[in-house]
Amino acid sequence: MVVDRFNREINYLRISLTDLCNLRCVYCMPEDMTFHPGEEILQDDEIQRLVSVFARMGFGKFRLTGGEPTLRENIVEIVRRMAETPGVRELAMTTNGVTLKHLARPLFEAGLQRINISIDTLDPEKYRRITRWGNLDDVLSGIRAAEQSGMGVKLNSVVVRGHNDRKDAVDLARLTLDNPWQVRYIEVMPMGRVTDFQKAGIVPEQELRDTISSKLGPMELLNGGRLDGEARVFRLKGAMGTLGFISAVTKPFCAGCNRARLTADGRLLLCLLRDNELNLMPYLRNGATEDDLAEQIEEAIWFKPWGHGLSENIHPSRAMSEIGG
Ligand code: SAM
Ligand code: SF4
Repeated sequence: MVVDRFNREINYLRISLTDLCNLRCVYCMPEDMTFHPGEEILQDDEIQRLVSVFARMGFGKFRLTGGEPTLRENIVEIVRRMAETPGVRELAMTTNGVTLKHLARPLFEAGLQRINISIDTLDPEKYRRITRWGNLDDVLSGIRAAEQSGMGVKLNSVVVRGHNDRKDAVDLARLTLDNPWQVRYIEVMPMGRVTDFQKAGIVPEQELRDTISSKLGPMELLNGGRLDGEARVFRLKGAMGTLGFISAVTKPFCAGCNRARLTADGRLLLCLLRDNELNLMPYLRNGATEDDLAEQIEEAIWFKPWGHGLSENIHPSRAMSEIGG
């Protein structure tokens, strides 16, 4: 078990498999984004080595993200090797869903248990505007394929004022009436080069819940208000699915944070919104043993920062796509 100096147990690793993406969401990266050359990215064996080390140290939950994780070569094999690693109990992915039509079943069969698919609106034109390059039908078929494969499905919507905070948010919530999905509303966060746009765009959770309830009726708080991961969960009357609200900016959940992040170029990040990091690449490529790696990781985690510092106006220099969300 690994703990930090605030006695938080850290046991959840989010791994960004690639910084590449087939979309260019306006709140995530600029259209002219530049990417790391292939040799700077963790190779398949390096990822697997780190997964074994983290699992040995007591990490049981892993999430694959990106960039777009399904663009990673050998993605099915990477999932299979991770799922077979002793100690890996939960294996999930966050994806834009565009390629899931063909990949959902092989990923499920390889051991992927749960999937979060990003979809900010059900309006095809608006979807194209927000993602710059995306086609809504691809995501909708991806969602169906994921559900049919047997995986647990959650939908992620980043809410931006004036873009998708009203009708789009209600339309997504309506999906939970007839589908056993969780629709999660994520407050937009100030990242990388697009911070001004993001700060203007934050819609507080209460306002969003009021907008949804004004059209679809009251929602009841579930789990006595305890967080499910990072989300506060509600259910509309008679709905099969649930609504989750992830309010990292206005209601931070840093006190209960149990996660660390691995970037595609091998840096261990201790907080989504701060630049504190341990570069594991030199160790991996200069003959460090698993014990050496574990020792470095344990020490870095000890110094995990307490909170994200948005109120102090601290913003990370990386784009969300480099960190993985
Ligand atoms: N490409 C995949 C996807 O979009 O699901 C995985 C990577 S993406 C960076 C992970 C999550 O971060 C997505 O749900 C995305 O919507 C969210 N995200 C991206 N930029 C964000 C921002 N500025 N604030 C909050 N969430 C953001
Ligand atoms: Fe790509 Fe995901 Fe970022 Fe959109 S949010 S640009 S899909 S990495």
